[in-house]
Amino acid sequence: MEPEAAAATAQRAVRVLRVLEKTYPDQRPLLRYDNAYQLLIAVILSAQTTDAQVNRVTAALFAALPTVQTLAEATQADVERYIHSTGFFRSKARNIRAAAVVLRDRFGGQVPQSMQELLSLPGVGRKTANVIRGALFGLPAIIVDTHFARVTRRLELTAAAAPERIESEVAALLPPESHYSFSMCVNYHGRYRCHARRPDCGQCEIRALCGYPRLIG
Ligand code: SF4
Repeated sequence: MEPEAAAATAQRAVRVLRVLEKTYPDQRPLLRYDNAYQLLIAVILSAQTTDAQVNRVTAALFAALPTVQTLAEATQADVERYIHSTGFFRSKARNIRAAAVVLRDRFGGQVPQSMQELLSLPGVGRKTANVIRGALFGLPAIIVDTHFARVTRRLELTAAAAPERIESEVAALLPPESHYSFSMCVNYHGRYRCHARRPDCGQCEIRALCGYPRLIG
């Protein structure tokens, strides 16, 4: 992108953020959690399913296995019993048990902050790591999920398809301190307005900043 075009896109991204921060003032994750351990496990479980589905199983899971230590010592069958309705439950059970073992043995039972350390945990990719960094630690975090990818492409803030590329291109448009807020606002906008099949462009708060309605006629 030419420097002038890049500057105009960055300005538009900031204007999108300003509008969406007013539209979605509560930017907490929709996953329920009380501590770092619970958020990490909930985000791992949220792959390929909805946050509502994860919330339905985590209350019982965390009541039975309330700490890193208890999860690290649980059997595969123990864990599967609680999470079987989340889909891919066998691999998710393996991953969260293995993640708990790593947390216990390498990180003193604490969830680490650095991207590299988070990515060393089984079941943790960049999306999960960025949720943890942004929501728990207040660090810059662009969280690329299906909603974020769709909305940022429609807004022409990126044309990339690969999540890492989307992450780096959008990150370059905004000041680091607004990355997490932007991620959550755009995620909410994808859920509640900019739907995958029928985006509600007629009611959209950022329609004036988006070329997509003109593209689809
Ligand atoms: S105008 Fe339509 S496509 Fe653009 S962000 Fe709003 S809902 Fe999505």
